[in-house]
Amino acid sequence: MTPFRYRCTECGRTFARDAVRYLCPDCGPGGPPGEPLRGVLEAVLDETELRRALDARPGDLRAFLPVEPEFHPAYPVGNTPLVAVPGLGAALGFERLLVKNDALEPSGSLKDRASFLVVAEAIRLGEPRVVTASTGNAASALAAVCAATDREAVIFVPKTAPRAKLVQMLVHGARVVPIDGTYDDAFRLSLEYTRERGGLNRNTAYHPLTIEGKKTVALEIFFQLGGRAPDAVVVPVGDGVILAGVWKGFTDLVRCGRLDRLPRLVAVQAEGSAAIHRFVTTGIFRKVDVPDTIADSIAVGVPSNARLARKAIEESGGFSLTVSDEEILEAQGLLARTTGIFAEPSAAAVVAALPRVDEDRLDRGSEIVLLVTGHGLKDVEAPLARLSLPDPVPATLDAVP
Ligand SMILES: [Zn+2]
Repeated sequence: MTPFRYRCTECGRTFARDAVRYLCPDCGPGGPPGEPLRGVLEAVLDETELRRALDARPGDLRAFLPVEPEFHPAYPVGNTPLVAVPGLGAALGFERLLVKNDALEPSGSLKDRASFLVVAEAIRLGEPRVVTASTGNAASALAAVCAATDREAVIFVPKTAPRAKLVQMLVHGARVVPIDGTYDDAFRLSLEYTRERGGLNRNTAYHPLTIEGKKTVALEIFFQLGGRAPDAVVVPVGDGVILAGVWKGFTDLVRCGRLDRLPRLVAVQAEGSAAIHRFVTTGIFRKVDVPDTIADSIAVGVPSNARLARKAIEESGGFSLTVSDEEILEAQGLLARTTGIFAEPSAAAVVAALPRVDEDRLDRGSEIVLLVTGHGLKDVEAPLARLSLPDPVPATLDAVP
């Protein structure tokens, strides 16, 4: 671990590690409902110490994590494959496509990275309970990490979360509270819960270590490429925290002198849940009243981290775009048939985005990493909309078509 301070991403005020827990007290609490969080904090690592740690142990990601290794859960996250996908590239007209396959995290999604680090923090603080709102993946990740560490997970999810994700949470022994409402309702209620009844709140962006956990995916891409960044990383975006995490990972590498500049970050949203895309393209934030997409993991009306997501896109010279549910399902099938990777709809959105991008925005010969954030088995109902299960036949060879 490298020493660090928290810094407000809006007013720039800095805080000692234990002087603040969630948001900047000057900017954050009491922000208007229906708007993104204000005063999201980032951990600013001591650059000299970080360089020294990396010189001593090159490629050891623990130097980048703001919680001491002795508190890390015995739950192996990360180290997911980065694979070239020439078949998919040929189908879409791109020459150098790679997939970072975070569907292969233990609970089946990238959210394991954030849950791992927040639970490490709960262990450091002696906090027995960790609370979260989630569209499903963050909660199933939290349930799994808590199960491995003897912590209690308390989870607020919209009742429409896919059944497989709910089953994951219950199997791991979490206390699950389905909400008759949206993810945004669950988010608000979980904040009230921790304020009144205690526990460490893991809500995404609200707890700064969610961004720090998610940044490890960018660090891994850098080290897996032999110490360099790709030209672009394509990221599915709901509340904007994975995007902010990817930005933070590459930013840490720039700050400690390992990287000259950020790769371009391309944010993909579903047409029916595109508050960040609208914010980026118009400069005006307007919430989505009722997010409407089959890509449940990115169905968010009030993206908590919209401000930092916008900064990440602008600072990296990237851009945002939207895709339809129909395009997502088609891309899910194409990815599965050309690579052997079964991604959930939100993750398949990054594949759906490629045919939408003009050549002058994304060079067909550039090196592009597609971030696959969740496993397709988490929601088998979605692809069934386009598939039909074959009818059974008698168990005789003559009956086999
Ligand atoms: Zn502030």
